Amino acid sequence: MEVLKEKILKDGNALDENILKVDSFINHQVDASLMQQIGNEFANHFKDYKITKVATIESSGIAPALMTAQALGVPMLILKKAPSSILNDNLLHTEVVSFTKKNSYELTLSKKFVNENDHVLIIDDFLANGEAATGAIRLMRKAHATIAGIGILIEKSFQPGRGKLEEQGFEVYSLARIAKLGKGIIEFVEES
Ligand code: 5GP
Repeated sequence: MEVLKEKILKDGNALDENILKVDSFINHQVDASLMQQIGNEFANHFKDYKITKVATIESSGIAPALMTAQALGVPMLILKKAPSSILNDNLLHTEVVSFTKKNSYELTLSKKFVNENDHVLIIDDFLANGEAATGAIRLMRKAHATIAGIGILIEKSFQPGRGKLEEQGFEVYSLARIAKLGKGIIEFVEES
């Protein structure tokens, strides 16, 4: 998606060879108009997939997931991060290792909101090692839902996330694919 790639080049900040900071338009301050365009792009790509819900992980995925859900005319689900296991019969939970914080957290979903009739599109801001997306998939499976696909704003293609998800048979649709990062360097994957 050209408009996202241009924004990344203009306002993204590559801290080192692993981390891209996008807090001026995605992670802290949010560019609402860009999020709307992103939502339309995902909705257009997945329009024939019979999606019943769009799910994301709090908090950075919420803005693009909401716009996608709005464009598709379905509800959005926020998978909640909790510091430790919560004893609640109505909650499904799974452990996820955080890429940026190098710790792990519990991801939770209420059984009330997903069931075997749901076909869920998972949206997240970044794809790195694929832990967050895999955790979201595990939760949806625990709820007996099926996965329509995974929509990512920024994929770091030099990290193993896409490969791991594709190996399991999932479609990954990424709007910007980064081939290389370095201090002040951002290079995209050449798309044919
Ligand atoms: P994964 O679970 O695929 O290893 O990492 C994805 C999660 O880690 C995303 O939800 C995102 O919050 C965070 N993340 C991974 N890489 C980056 C990055 O380069 N910049 C930022 N801001 N977040 C990242």
